[in-house]
Amino acid sequence: MEEITVCPKCGSTQISWTAGGITGEVYRCNECNYVGSFILQVKPRDLLRFREELRKDKS
Ligand SMILES: [Zn+2]
Repeated sequence: MEEITVCPKCGSTQISWTAGGITGEVYRCNECNYVGSFILQVKPRDLLRFREELRKDKS
């Protein structure tokens, strides 16, 4: 099954990839402006569950 790249901070799938030079791969989230080499890859069926977890943390 295909995996989706997901922002670890807000759960968005609006991720841009940028070459990070010496740090390697760097990702940027278009929604919360998270920048980092750590990114989540989840299966489509896990995405909703992950977003629910994020929502629980906020409330
Ligand atoms: Zn984000």
